[in-house]
Amino acid sequence: MSAAPATTDTHSAPAASARGLSKIYGSGDTAVVALNEVDLDINASEFTAIMGPSGSGKSTLMHCLAGLDSASSGSVTVGDVELTALKEKKLTALRRDKIGFVFQAFNLVPTLTAEENILLPLDIAGRKVDREWFDLVVDTVGLRSRLGHRPSELSGGQQQRVACARALVSKPEVVFADEPTGNLDSTSSAEVLRFLRTSVDEYHQTIVMVTHDPVAASHCDRVLILRDGEVAGELWHPSREQILEAMMAQTEDTL
Ligand code: ADP
Repeated sequence: MSAAPATTDTHSAPAASARGLSKIYGSGDTAVVALNEVDLDINASEFTAIMGPSGSGKSTLMHCLAGLDSASSGSVTVGDVELTALKEKKLTALRRDKIGFVFQAFNLVPTLTAEENILLPLDIAGRKVDREWFDLVVDTVGLRSRLGHRPSELSGGQQQRVACARALVSKPEVVFADEPTGNLDSTSSAEVLRFLRTSVDEYHQTIVMVTHDPVAASHCDRVLILRDGEVAGELWHPSREQILEAMMAQTEDTL
């Protein structure tokens, strides 16, 4: 593991990056430093996991990178746009056009069918559906026969695959997945992770996933480990065992 800044010297531009990113909640005696001057590049067409003990800043980092939360200082860039320089209206448009989200609780609209849920973000944005791409995404997630079903008629794993398809159908610059397998059994988790992996390998999607699960993280190209609001280390193509070892080391250090 290295504790050097998690920036990489690759030839292609990063899909997202943070420079000197700090987030402080509250002020004075009660101030909490959730992120402490984080420097980070998220490489394009890679599957990156963010791990770390509870309270280490995973959610805050993801929310700042995705433009869901504002930075206290420093900058965040997605593609070639600096989010931290945008006003709320432009930020909302950027989130809609350039970022896909997958949440632990699926967040599907219960009254809409799977197909309607997948197409909802494009409908809201008034964007035309690329039918060929829609078909490819639907077939890759294995939902062809379920398109007319409502969420209540689908298993948890199927619902999360609908949510993944919804995130991918607009071809976002980055998909942020917040504990996407947290509510799933191991078989459904494996299906969702396989799909996320395929979307990186075959469609060059960039994915950032917050997870507690070493098995989920072992599907990733790179695992960033946070501690106390800083990137404490990173692993490349790690096994489940290597991830467990790194997590144990972080926990032991804090005991
Ligand atoms: P993780 O996702 O790794 O559990 P978080 O990003 O949620 O960590 O939290 C990082 C730190 O920031 C924690 O100490 C947490 O208590 C604090 N924190 C997070 N959100 C808020 C908030 N809205 N107000 C105050 N403190 C917060």
